[in-house]
Amino acid sequence: MHKKVEDIKLYINGEFIDAHACATFENINPFTNEVTNKIAEGRSEDVNKAVKASKEAFHSEWGTMKVAERMEYINRIADLIDEEVEEIAILESLDTGLPISQTRKMAARAAENFRFYARMVQSKLHGESYPVDDEFINYTVYKPMGVVGLITPWNAPFMLETWKVAPALATGNTVVLKPAELSPLTANKLAEVIDKAGLPNGVFNVVHGFGETAGGSLVSHPDVEAISFTGETTTGSTIIKNSAETLKKTSMELGGKSPLIVFDDADMDRALDAAVWGIFSFNGERCTANSRVFLHKTIKDQFVEVLKERVTNIKIGDPMDPSTQLGPLIDKEHFNKVTNYIEIAKQEGCEVVQGKVPEEVKAGNFVPPTLLLDAKNDMKVCQEEIFGPVMAVIEFETEEEVIAGANDVKYGLAGYVWTNDIKRGHRVAQAVEAGMLWVNAQNVRDLRIPFGGTKASGIGREGGHYAMFEFYTEPKVIHVAISDHHIPQFGK
Ligand code: NAD
Repeated sequence: MHKKVEDIKLYINGEFIDAHACATFENINPFTNEVTNKIAEGRSEDVNKAVKASKEAFHSEWGTMKVAERMEYINRIADLIDEEVEEIAILESLDTGLPISQTRKMAARAAENFRFYARMVQSKLHGESYPVDDEFINYTVYKPMGVVGLITPWNAPFMLETWKVAPALATGNTVVLKPAELSPLTANKLAEVIDKAGLPNGVFNVVHGFGETAGGSLVSHPDVEAISFTGETTTGSTIIKNSAETLKKTSMELGGKSPLIVFDDADMDRALDAAVWGIFSFNGERCTANSRVFLHKTIKDQFVEVLKERVTNIKIGDPMDPSTQLGPLIDKEHFNKVTNYIEIAKQEGCEVVQGKVPEEVKAGNFVPPTLLLDAKNDMKVCQEEIFGPVMAVIEFETEEEVIAGANDVKYGLAGYVWTNDIKRGHRVAQAVEAGMLWVNAQNVRDLRIPFGGTKASGIGREGGHYAMFEFYTEPKVIHVAISDHHIPQFGK
């Protein structure tokens, strides 16, 4: 039995309200393909209303509030998320098809995002001073920007939303969030939590709706100072174009096609666990997924044998079942896209090995864990982001060859190197063109590190002080004379 969920409204100026046009859209459960509930569909009028409220809240209260007071609100949000972790995880799994064992961890981490930024802002958000002889002191202060627009994807909604909302609010900005239309439930929950935390009206707003309309209106709004976006590379490029007119600051976290390289001296068991987890967790809908696995010639056959066993053993099923390891893809359209890539792989000459979707869950958008064996890096399936549980396996012989292959792709988000040769580990990690590299590790990270990609995977970094200093605040310089320096006397 799946949970019954109420219809969802917009959250603007501290109120849950219908869309101006009273429009709604249906939210579909990826496990059953039945309608979960109806969502208010915000358009430009609603975005205008949210931005107006957000701007007023910034100027009247939030932007100038004492830091300690603001952080009390931020920590209260974290505490309330903790109280609701189970409910948030259930809603997230219902909405996205992500296994509940994984959404529970994501929800718990979301609370930590708020605490982390409360600590960061209190201890680290300070400027520098530059004394110039006995003539001047120049100093910097980091100021919030005002209204920021946050546009998020469906693959890890709550986690990614809080990853943006927490630094935006903690640094003193006000927010209009446009969540992905395919996964609106937990954004609404975040609005409920923030409402309960008692933040001043208008500080945080949620406008549900479609990309081109609700998202587009936010991007082109003259009173929105910055857009932080996570999603597809092509959408990112459209947003940059559309934000040019109003000269917005933008942050782009985009797609990936990340390599995982296993040398012949690696710890095979650990490399295997990491490779399997890295592509089949989050249903393969993970930006940092190791979708291209490069195996050294001498260990390839042995590695592939175990991979084949693993894909047939991965537990496919109801996302609400705690033992499920792989759930359904977000919607039918995405299912068709991923399935089509598997057909392309066959045409391109790959041997396809797959797990089996149990008969009783066939109503869901399930693609079984899939291996594309004998893949070559120049194949379409190795160059384009599939964003599903599909691992391409590519053989290599030399270090130079594998670095060239890893880099011969338009993306540059993440990369993983497995070797017990310490020099080679560092060398290869430094040579792979990506924003984030892991050596002998799966995708574990500390919140203080910069998160983001190079090439077509993004512009700018989130996380740690990068989000705080480089995106959500602007440095302001104040020059103060402390003696009577020379001033030219024109026209005297
Ligand atoms: P998407 O680009 O289709 O949509 C993301 C968001 O953008 C949605 O809210 C959507 O409504 C909105 N949008 C769409 N068109 C818009 C427009 N013209 N103007 C303004 N907003 C618009 O992405 P998706 O399919 O939801 O997410 C999957 C993608 O996200 C994958 O490519 C994945 O790699 C990427 N991703 C990247 C990271 C990262 O940190 N680099 C993290 C997670 C996901």
